[in-house]
Amino acid sequence: MSDRGHVFIVSGPSGSGKSTVLKEVFKARPGMYFSVSATTRSPRPGETDGVEYFFITEERFDSMVEADEFLEHARYARCSYGTPRAPVEEKLDEGVDVVMDIEVQGARQVKARMPEAVSVFIAPPSLEELERRLRGRGTDSEEKIALRLETAKAELREAEKYDHVVVNDDYLRAAGELLNIIKSA
Ligand code: 5GP
Repeated sequence: MSDRGHVFIVSGPSGSGKSTVLKEVFKARPGMYFSVSATTRSPRPGETDGVEYFFITEERFDSMVEADEFLEHARYARCSYGTPRAPVEEKLDEGVDVVMDIEVQGARQVKARMPEAVSVFIAPPSLEELERRLRGRGTDSEEKIALRLETAKAELREAEKYDHVVVNDDYLRAAGELLNIIKSA
């Protein structure tokens, strides 16, 4: 049992710089498995199906829920997101560590099912900085940005329930901190 992989849940509001931090972490530890989620949102420019996400229809998503194919799933900013269970179990059985980038409701579900999972919350330095980053991305409409900011405020209130909180003031420093958490697990 002890040579099973570890699960690392990484959450943080969109615009917290979580993806950039995770990219650095994977550069340093390429052997870990990044859990590719399924989502009903449309791909952003530069995103590839099967890499960042599996982009699927609401219908397909619902049938996967029905068939209990998700380890967890949640609604976020009017779209559905879920972690396919099979690849996660497979990697853990092979002794490979699994990293999931999921929001707070999903994180709660995974912690309930896998209490040994290590949860890490990536926080932006401030709400002002978060708003600046969301606008700077230039991919979302004003309405989407407003919705994401509201969601972020609610998410930040959840941060204290995580095993660790990493403030992303500088992505390399934050990545270093996350790597230390992973190494000590
Ligand atoms: P985005 O649309 O910006 O890529 O992601 C929006 C939010 O959905 C992020 O907070 C991200 O962590 C979360 N997310 C991505 N995949 C999953 C998933 O499979 N399950 C859950 N619960 N959240 C996810």
